[in-house]
Amino acid sequence: MIRQTKIVASLGPATDDPLVLAKMFRRGVDVVRINFSHGDVAEHQARVGLVRKTALEVGKTVAILGDLQGPKIRLERFKQHKVELVSGNEFFLDGALGKNDGDEVEVGLTYKALADDVKRGDILMLDDGNIVLKVSDAQGQRIRTRVLVGGKLSDNKGINLQGGGLSAGSLTDKDKQDIKLAARLDIDFLAVSFVRSAADVEEARTLYQAEGKIASIVSKVERKEAIDNILEITRASDVVMIARGDLGVEIGDANLPGVQKRIIKLARENNRVVITATQMMQSMIDSPIPTRAEVSDVANAVMDGSDAVMLSAETAVGRHPAKVIGAMARICKAAEIEIDREKRFNPGVEFGNAEESIAMASMYTANHFPVVAILALTESGRTALLMSRANAKIPIYAMTRNSPSARRMCIYRGVMPVEFDFTQLAASGINRAAVEWLNNAGLVEEGEQVIITRGDTSAEGGTNTMKIVRVGKVALQ
Ligand code: PEP
Repeated sequence: MIRQTKIVASLGPATDDPLVLAKMFRRGVDVVRINFSHGDVAEHQARVGLVRKTALEVGKTVAILGDLQGPKIRLERFKQHKVELVSGNEFFLDGALGKNDGDEVEVGLTYKALADDVKRGDILMLDDGNIVLKVSDAQGQRIRTRVLVGGKLSDNKGINLQGGGLSAGSLTDKDKQDIKLAARLDIDFLAVSFVRSAADVEEARTLYQAEGKIASIVSKVERKEAIDNILEITRASDVVMIARGDLGVEIGDANLPGVQKRIIKLARENNRVVITATQMMQSMIDSPIPTRAEVSDVANAVMDGSDAVMLSAETAVGRHPAKVIGAMARICKAAEIEIDREKRFNPGVEFGNAEESIAMASMYTANHFPVVAILALTESGRTALLMSRANAKIPIYAMTRNSPSARRMCIYRGVMPVEFDFTQLAASGINRAAVEWLNNAGLVEEGEQVIITRGDTSAEGGTNTMKIVRVGKVALQ
């Protein structure tokens, strides 16, 4: 059995060693994440270069996701870099304070207008909820708070308003610069942080396209407002990411599991891709094995239908970046055995077009007839995406001559992209050549049956045929 769920690994100092990266790719990374919240242009360029070189050496298609920082509201810095806040004391957040002038009484803010967005009684969560402040009042740019939960607080920690409602737009000036950089780096997925609405997604897509490039747009769902507008955001996006770190702070950690399940279901029903992210294998930042709870978390995300599961600090700064990939791959594979493969075949669902009809017919056949693989000959990858919204026990080999399509398909659950140029072949010989390729690669055997889907013209969006053929006996047609 080939693993169907994909793995997204965040890059960082711990993955900069070419040998480590190669090991991670061999153990199962499908997509790497470049985080524009950390590092400079030279670092991002070097990482992208290393990813492309290593993927070639390992002989694997690996896609690149560029993750914009977004309007993450942060504290400025402390004179001593660190303070201890005492529960019950007053503490001031002040947009007008100098960048490095923080102390036990007050600290500066990156978002100067925060005082306009809060009112008496609001709860501010600092450092992912480790410190909790209650707003007493706000005047000008200065917010007076009472410390509800104290503790150690250091430079540049993030701030969230419990329940959401911050007016900061989704794309900052830095994000706009990073969109240009992402286009120069020719990334495959652009992740937009703190999305509030479909308009935020469209703005990012338009800005990226203005650079003359195309990328799949990933909406990071991490604000309360994004949950309120989840249907329009999902439909405006190619991919949704359940960014559980910030989301958990905004909506409350106890609400995360239910919301996660709802988003996964919604994304799949709307033919969109979904990534479950953050703290999936958190203990493996230090430990060589995951906790039972982490194993269960990853497995449940897989059983619920995530296309991909993501690692953040576990790979970027962790002690075991290759081991964690191996562990995650093993958990995904075991969880996939338990998936209900009939779930998507709801008799009430109407298919949108010929392509979706062929895709669903193929997946239904895959679960009810002794075929060992699906070969989807595709230009854009659309048929493979539609197929991967249902569950089959066999792999979908998505054969395309188009490298960007192959990389985009790296994130589709159950889809193995294969770069295969059939443009020089006569139309009547394409099926035979495709099956021979799989046979030569050792992925199918003589006498086994496979499903082939393709368009009878090679035009994009043109899949309109499905055939079942026997390996070694594919007729020219
Ligand atoms: C998150 O908040 O869960 C997330 C994925 O975003 P980031 O890692 O960029 O904070």
